[in-house]
Amino acid sequence: MEPLEPRHCLAAATGGGWHLSWNGATVEARQDAWVVRSAAPLGAAALIGGLGWRATPLGEGFTKLDAPGVTAGDVVAWAARTPGVSAVEPDILITSRQLPTDSAFGSLWGLHNVGQSGGTADADIDAPEAWDVTTGSRSVVVAVIDSGFDYTHPDLAANAWRNPGEIAGDGIDNDGNGFVDDVHGWDFANEDADPMDDDGHGTHVAGTIGAVGNNATGVTGVNWKVSIMGLKFLDASGSGSTSDAVAALTYATRMRRDFGINIVATNNSWGGADHSNSLRSAIASAGRAGILFVTAAGNDHSDNDRFADYPSTYRDEAVISVTATDRSNRLAAFANYGATSVDLAAPGVAIRSTVPGGYATFGGTSMAAPFVTGTVALLAAANPQATAAEIRSAILATAKPITALAGRVASGGLLNAASAVQAIRRLSSAAVPASIASVPLSQDVDDGKARAYAVTASPSSAVRFASRIGDGPFGRRDVDIFRVTLAAGQVLTIDIDARSLTTSSTLDSHVRLFNAAGKQRAANDDAGGSLDSHLMFTAPSAGTYSIGVSGSGNSAYSVKRAGSGRVGSTGNYEITFSFR
Ligand code: CA
Ligand code: CA
Ligand code: CA
Ligand code: CA
Repeated sequence: MEPLEPRHCLAAATGGGWHLSWNGATVEARQDAWVVRSAAPLGAAALIGGLGWRATPLGEGFTKLDAPGVTAGDVVAWAARTPGVSAVEPDILITSRQLPTDSAFGSLWGLHNVGQSGGTADADIDAPEAWDVTTGSRSVVVAVIDSGFDYTHPDLAANAWRNPGEIAGDGIDNDGNGFVDDVHGWDFANEDADPMDDDGHGTHVAGTIGAVGNNATGVTGVNWKVSIMGLKFLDASGSGSTSDAVAALTYATRMRRDFGINIVATNNSWGGADHSNSLRSAIASAGRAGILFVTAAGNDHSDNDRFADYPSTYRDEAVISVTATDRSNRLAAFANYGATSVDLAAPGVAIRSTVPGGYATFGGTSMAAPFVTGTVALLAAANPQATAAEIRSAILATAKPITALAGRVASGGLLNAASAVQAIRRLSSAAVPASIASVPLSQDVDDGKARAYAVTASPSSAVRFASRIGDGPFGRRDVDIFRVTLAAGQVLTIDIDARSLTTSSTLDSHVRLFNAAGKQRAANDDAGGSLDSHLMFTAPSAGTYSIGVSGSGNSAYSVKRAGSGRVGSTGNYEITFSFR
């Protein structure tokens, strides 16, 4: 007979965490939880001897191990004797980096500072100057790894990413990525498909990256147009665990690498003082897939060169560590700094942005990081062929020197979106075709009347038209055809706005791109109810390409034969062609 092991409460912690000794330091972790790295998924054999142990795969060789009542020594011994297991560590707790709100200021000084509410004119990121070149593109995806985000917010809904391979609510993993009904992302905190924000932090971050611009509503993000993926791992109180952060990152890595989703950056406005090998290698994996990791430097007003902060001090070429300045170009009183470990600063005091159900003003390095993430997306829109490394160095090389940042951040400066956009464009030929032939309602397909008209205020490298589906003799089978001549290797980005127009349209748009022979080469109809459509196309050879816009339902017409399709939805739209 053996005595039953007495149950006892392990070192209780403030804030619900579990304090334990690990590698000579005390870390705060999720109780009884570990992150394991292994060559193969942990099978039943690996768990033998562990009463009540449970293994949850996180992807990319990581597993969350729940092992009730087990000590650090026990789990290390288990890892050493279990074949294939290469590493184990506590499931370290992580928190968001937002400070209490200061709702006195309602202005977006970070984007454009004219000295409103005091402060220094031009202590900002020069967003309007960047918008002369590009206002972003829905072809560019940013993953907000946070508390989720309110994808129904009127100022965010049009910029919410929709998984093109997933059908909402059918209980089927349509794209086969292992996640059922992951339409806007995933909730790793509650293990469900709905990354709705129950905290507010992630929605605020999302708004700075990409609150819809020019829609006569609320605020404007660094990007007027972008696709925001919600990867929720922070819970309603702003806390999360390393295992869920790793799972969120590996989701992004796989979606870019294996499923072709153009994720250019993750925003990570969270962290802590405890090191995690699993998190560091998940960041490196994402970096190898081409995803930048933008993160907040921390709110302890301490020197990250001396007191390491995680994940912001990981030395990885994918990491951009961001501290915060105020409206007078001062380093924020709370902001961490580091002459080698912090890369640059961005506005982070009294930042107005979206929250579920409205708007609010927050501060923190949490609020600074999304200005940089948004700028990464803006640069990816300005030059779709730029690599992650080129985008990172364009941002760091063009940071505007600020006295208060000298010796405090590696670049010595404040984010400057306009200069960064100019730098990334210089890398590309940026050749805009001499002319774009607008032949909406062309003789081929419709009544030959060109009714589209150019819309002003478009960036110089783009052409924008407004038109309508349903106004020709073929009624609901109406197709607008645009013709564009491209050089070999030239990249054409097409954004169709219907839902995101100032007055939302009834058109559920569908876009197709054909080569000169009339063969379809690309198409998009953002599945799941979005009325907008977008695609990015690299011309394999020089020639004239045709772009057809129709109502969803009319997607199989011949571009050479008028009225050859089926009936689709009708309504107004605007189409923007951007050329690189
Ligand atoms: Ca799926
Ligand atoms: Ca589904
Ligand atoms: Ca807006
Ligand atoms: Ca559509």
